[in-house]
Amino acid sequence: MKTANPLIVPRSEHPISRRWLSPNAVKVLYRLKDNGFIAYLVGGGVRDLLLGREPKDFDIVTDATPAQIKRIFRNCRLIGRRFRLAHLHFHDEIIEVATFRSAVQDEPSEEEPPVADLPERETDQRRARAPKLLKNEEGMVLRDNIFGTPEEDAIRRDFTVNALSYNIADFSIIDYVGGMADLEQGVMRTIGDPVVRFTEDPVRMLRAVRFAAMLGFTVEETTWRATCELSATIAKASPPRLYEEVLKLFLLGAGERTYQLLRQSGLFAALFPHFSAWLDRESDGFPHTWVGQALDRVDTLIREGKKVSPQLLFALLFGQYLREKGAGFRESGAPPQQAVNMAVAEFMGELVPTVFVPNRVGIQIRDILASQHRFQKMPGRHAETFAERGGFGDALEYLRFSSAFYGDGEKCVAFWERFTSEPRMPEEEGDATPQRRKRRRRRKKRPAPPA
Ligand code: ATP
Ligand code: MG
Repeated sequence: MKTANPLIVPRSEHPISRRWLSPNAVKVLYRLKDNGFIAYLVGGGVRDLLLGREPKDFDIVTDATPAQIKRIFRNCRLIGRRFRLAHLHFHDEIIEVATFRSAVQDEPSEEEPPVADLPERETDQRRARAPKLLKNEEGMVLRDNIFGTPEEDAIRRDFTVNALSYNIADFSIIDYVGGMADLEQGVMRTIGDPVVRFTEDPVRMLRAVRFAAMLGFTVEETTWRATCELSATIAKASPPRLYEEVLKLFLLGAGERTYQLLRQSGLFAALFPHFSAWLDRESDGFPHTWVGQALDRVDTLIREGKKVSPQLLFALLFGQYLREKGAGFRESGAPPQQAVNMAVAEFMGELVPTVFVPNRVGIQIRDILASQHRFQKMPGRHAETFAERGGFGDALEYLRFSSAFYGDGEKCVAFWERFTSEPRMPEEEGDATPQRRKRRRRRKKRPAPPA
């Protein structure tokens, strides 16, 4: 893509102050500059600062090569596969420094070991062998290892609002792609043709939705049309990466808006085809309110500063679906716990081709659901052990939600909340508190009587 001269916004015309950056980021920018290199703060950090939001992280780009960065910073570790990135380790933060790249960012390949882990000579050989930019026959980028200019680095980024740079040399903002205007208008727009950019990396469609929901932006019309048109191709991205993206999407605190955009674009159906077909089937008669309410609950928890684990998110989002699956297995004769296991196993199997949920998370989803049956016994056997188990908090949170949804478990929630919050003094214990188990002495075996 050819661009005109960049728009340079001087310090007097934008609100970003060095005071808003992390002191470590400022230190790194200055150290690069003082060593004669270009140093920009880029990406989401600049976008968020311009919007008055607190950035999640501070990314820096420079014309120093990874080897030069390593020479300047003692706390530097080079990471990454074909494209080396420098991680500068500080006491409580890691600052990422990249050398300007051209073309588009690629997805790391799973089979190849990180370049940083290879001996220097082999690394060079591999670099020399590797073609500079490799796309497959469908135009998806497979390899990219070319250092570039500041402009090339900006235009290989995904969205205009993500491509602004803050220049430490004069505190100006450099805009090659119209990002300032789009930021002002609240628009997510790809840099270049959205069909090409989403074909190169389908995950960008999810990023468009995430940023639109997070910032309250709209998705620009051609970008949105391309998202709808190409939504099914999201399944070409790697399932572990899609899992990470799904977590980011639903844990950003704008669940309803995210869900609407994912449903309308067809991305949701492509990510969760079985669940989506079930939703469409079920909502023939009456609309599904579970998912919307579950996402509201997740947002509320996030707003209250509570951490929502991946397993709680998945259990909440898919709870009703899993419950119906479980009911199906029960009807065909499975005992309750086994029915839960079977439902979760089937669900995990359905997700493997698209959103790869790690096994350990699957086990925890199953535990949350299996605990629902256990909660009905108040207190039941070994209640303390049950309440002290890891995952109890998530299971109780799920119980709170489902009992409010079905209007049937208030007493149960109240019991377990009391059980976990009150100090249990043995003399005050009533019926509802666990019995302390008596320790049984093992009887000594008597020696056999002489015959
Ligand atoms: P946040 O960190 O708040 O989620 P971000 O914009 O910083 O948002 P990152 O994933 O940290 O997002 O990426 C940093 C920057 O790298 C982005 O702002 C964007 O410029 C670029 N980038 C990230 N992913 C892609 C991608 N798939 N294609 C092109 N550019 C990308
Ligand atoms: Mg970031």
